[in-house]
Amino acid sequence: MTQRFSFSLDATDGKARTGVISTPRGEIRTPAFMPVGTAATVKAMMPESVAATGADILLGNTYHLMLRPGADRVERLGGLHRFMNWAGPILTDSGGFQVMSLAELRRLTEEGVTFRSHVDGSRHMLSPESSMEIQKKLGSDIVMCFDECPALPAEHKRIADSMRLSMRWAQRSRDAFGDRPGHALFGIQQGGDVEELRGESAEALKAIEFDGYAIGGLAVGEGQEVMFKVLDYAPGMLPIDKPRYLMGVGKPDDIVGAVKRGVDMMDCVLPSRSGRTGQVWTRRGQVNIKNARHADDPRPLDESCRCPACSNYSRAYLHHVFRSGEIISSMLLTWHNLHYYQELMGEMRAAIAEGTFDAFEDRFHALRAEGDIEPI
Ligand SMILES: [Zn+2]
Repeated sequence: MTQRFSFSLDATDGKARTGVISTPRGEIRTPAFMPVGTAATVKAMMPESVAATGADILLGNTYHLMLRPGADRVERLGGLHRFMNWAGPILTDSGGFQVMSLAELRRLTEEGVTFRSHVDGSRHMLSPESSMEIQKKLGSDIVMCFDECPALPAEHKRIADSMRLSMRWAQRSRDAFGDRPGHALFGIQQGGDVEELRGESAEALKAIEFDGYAIGGLAVGEGQEVMFKVLDYAPGMLPIDKPRYLMGVGKPDDIVGAVKRGVDMMDCVLPSRSGRTGQVWTRRGQVNIKNARHADDPRPLDESCRCPACSNYSRAYLHHVFRSGEIISSMLLTWHNLHYYQELMGEMRAAIAEGTFDAFEDRFHALRAEGDIEPI
């Protein structure tokens, strides 16, 4: 068992990288996709099923967990890993993003954010210090700095002020985190879509020194073109020998584009949330299982997929249970989506190791361009 957190880079192909993050709770193969377990569960999935899809690490949401069931309760019950029965590594966000998007009556000051819970209206305060304390109580393996960011597009001054506040909070997060062997603290680069501000942010974070570096403030409404433009320069501003984590991304083509530009880790609710709304991804793009064209179709979602939904059920069955509102619909479609995402990550890791990422990318886009199989 590795006692310390470490990252080894095994191969690069262009800007794309593959490697391994070692933690006391297990290894994370990169590029890695982290399924989101918002409320101490990846919705509709047993933890062992999430592991069976190939996920090495889960993400937990500090904002949700601090409000319900509460960080003190999770700590008393043995920490988040034991509470939710997930033995592998867990990354928790800082709560900063969600408090700004979900909480009511929030007030932002230099100290932090005061707000009312969207669950029961109770009053709370999140600051760099309290976020570090809550993430410690949860037992998170990878802790994120407390930060703040505007939705894009935004005025230059708003992006600059917010980034500089986040950098002061990054220093306070580092000070409050202290020395915790085996646990990692990641800094978060901000600066919106302004290159010089991204550079200023990266320099501030590197001076503080973190175990890994996230690219924050993207996937906030800017669209893929702007996101890729930022990713053309932002990852290269961060240390080469530390993991780079793009927060809240994304669709399969966003993920491929991000890996191509040097990102090592990603998370998104999309594969699990979409599973519950009847949207699935296959190698040939997006499929809406609600559509009547599937009602008599005996074929699997994706003939090349080995997940339980594709191995044992027809499109007709998946269509039927979705339309009937059966719980198994969410279970099977979520399993398929998470399996597809993890297969995609595995293919990218292999392609980078072999130096064939360009060919992989061409194939990825060519298959999607063909679209879903013809209706029968
Ligand atoms: Zn499948």
